[in-house]
Amino acid sequence: MVKIGILSLQGDIEEHVSMMKKALDRTGMPGEVSWVKTPEEVSSVDALVIPGGESTTIGKLLRLYGIDNEIRKLAEKGVPIMGTCAGLVLLSNSGCEEVEKTGQPLLGLIDASVERNAFGRQKESFEADIGIPVLGKEKYHAVFIRAPAITKTGKDVNILAGYNGKIVAAEKNNIILLAFHPELSGDTRMHEYFLSHLKKIKTPP
Ligand code: GLN
Repeated sequence: MVKIGILSLQGDIEEHVSMMKKALDRTGMPGEVSWVKTPEEVSSVDALVIPGGESTTIGKLLRLYGIDNEIRKLAEKGVPIMGTCAGLVLLSNSGCEEVEKTGQPLLGLIDASVERNAFGRQKESFEADIGIPVLGKEKYHAVFIRAPAITKTGKDVNILAGYNGKIVAAEKNNIILLAFHPELSGDTRMHEYFLSHLKKIKTPP
């Protein structure tokens, strides 16, 4: 039985819980999905989602509660971690002028630079059908809400998707970055893809 944790400090939590439950059902993987918000809870998961919300707030709370170090330990152990929107910002290792100016804490778990609000402010939020080759040929309905974009990646980071000339999804080993909100798409494929990383780690060679 695998334990999937949804980081529950702030942001789009409930939608991730319900999407992840659907994805587990579809894959047939025995598992449970829990809200996690203490260092102990975070350290006990087999996979973790850092949801969208406000990255400055979540970053401060991570540090305040000492959860940042628990997440770093998970990443070292190879636990799959998916950061969506604000979660992408937090997992990155460097940021745009706005990130530098505010000095907001980043976890720095993947070699990627991030631009916050890369597509404009709240009212410029949009939805688009984008191609994500690892999910198959059928386009994926992506919801972008004050979305960030990845401006630069290390050479061993795989780009999973782009939109309008900007990188909107990338991964390296167990870390997945998504600029959009997969929990709002009505499509479980991205969560299933995330779960497939868990299988890779759980299954002995
Ligand atoms: N722009 C927000 C931030 O940087 C993220 C928005 C979102 O998660 N929907 O925190």
